[in-house]
Amino acid sequence: MTETLETQSVRNYDIEELKRLDMAHHWHPFTDTKALHKEGGARVITRAEGCYLYDGDGHKLLDGMAGLWCVNVGYGRQELAETAYRQMLELPYYNTFFKTATPPAIELSAKVASLLGDNFHHIFYSNSGSEANDTVLRMVRHYWNLKGQPNKKTIISRWNAYHGSTVAGASLGGMKPMHKQADLPIPGITHVMQPHWFQEAEQGETPEDFGKRAAHAIEQRILELGPENVAAFIGEPVQGAGGVVIPPSTYWPEVQKICQKYDLLLIADEVICGFGRTGSWFGHQTLGIKPDLIPMAKGMSSGYLPISAVAVSDKVSETLFEKGGEFYHGYTYSGHPAACAVALRNIEIMEREHLVEKVHNETGPYLAEALATLRDHPLVGETRTLGLLGAVEICKNKETRERFADLGKVGTMCRDHIMERNAISRACGDTMVVSPPLIIEKGQIDDLVAALRGALDDTMADVEKLGL
Ligand code: PMP
Repeated sequence: MTETLETQSVRNYDIEELKRLDMAHHWHPFTDTKALHKEGGARVITRAEGCYLYDGDGHKLLDGMAGLWCVNVGYGRQELAETAYRQMLELPYYNTFFKTATPPAIELSAKVASLLGDNFHHIFYSNSGSEANDTVLRMVRHYWNLKGQPNKKTIISRWNAYHGSTVAGASLGGMKPMHKQADLPIPGITHVMQPHWFQEAEQGETPEDFGKRAAHAIEQRILELGPENVAAFIGEPVQGAGGVVIPPSTYWPEVQKICQKYDLLLIADEVICGFGRTGSWFGHQTLGIKPDLIPMAKGMSSGYLPISAVAVSDKVSETLFEKGGEFYHGYTYSGHPAACAVALRNIEIMEREHLVEKVHNETGPYLAEALATLRDHPLVGETRTLGLLGAVEICKNKETRERFADLGKVGTMCRDHIMERNAISRACGDTMVVSPPLIIEKGQIDDLVAALRGALDDTMADVEKLGL
């Protein structure tokens, strides 16, 4: 089924030489470099269009992950390139530190605030989701200090959450292998169970009961620490990198109540869920959460240029502005004019093409149905979706939800097999996840799900051969 196309790259690349140089000089993030080199090095992606990537070896790949959950309007948008070009000619850079601003940073702030409803009027910029979460930590600590409650310091997060790769981001995240390599988390951050019914519920426990139990783990931790010492709770509305963990319906309402009861700030990390992914502009809107701080990135510019932000509720900004004096925080590229101009145009495209409505009414429900057809497969224990976020749970025993030993091994096989079928889905442990561009059409969803089924069949053959 390997499809080979003539690549029409802007430049005529010498792919073998690029692969050699890549191995010689390029250190890839989240990569076992020794293993990569042993396998012959990286696949070189040279161009992309719509939902498809083209590599230097002539393959056309259906990108079921929108890059890293970010290319919401799809690849090859000329108007985004032109927007960047024009902005770079007019004003490529100026900072927003010293009583200055640029038109794109102002306009984007107003636009993002308008998408967030009544409680949010201020936007603080950075360049990545990780930096947005570092910013959140700084704001939360500053807030409680100003409120005269300097002991309110600890932020509660969840195991298996992903909040970034900087020191604060990785500490807020609940990825144990990341903690282990860098002696994290830093003090003042603690983790509780995640609302992952498939993986963590007891036999016979309903999703509703499990959702309440997972929420009460937060309350228990607050009581252990003393509410006077707890500053905030942070959660992705749907945990993305953790494996598209869609909490049971009982979870977030309970979390909201707990945050209110003990006077915690609620942080909704919308880095993946924001900008249409779940069928609303933001994931907290889909799930009925009322956060105080909202880190966002990725879909904000559809990945065309790096940009992230924290939306700050009036409750928080009023205290920080009234009593806080100068906020000693910011980045050289906070509110970068070209990135802001592209983000603004990206939002305009989403509005013009009704992409959020399309996910909500059409492609989200279609993806749910299409993935559900995989439930008859012997390896599939569950499929779940919210908007254009989807997960397929691979397990050893469908009835008991027993996992294969060495979590991640079988998932990685399946990920490699789907790539052989010219489509991309990522393995988070043994959970196959999809997060395609929001422009994906129904026929392309069919192709993606057909490739997943084929990859699951190939994986089943491996499992039988290896006696796993
Ligand atoms: N938060 C969430 C929910 C994420 O998914 C990510 C990235 N996958 C981040 C934060 C970190 O973003 P970045 O990689 O841009 O630093």
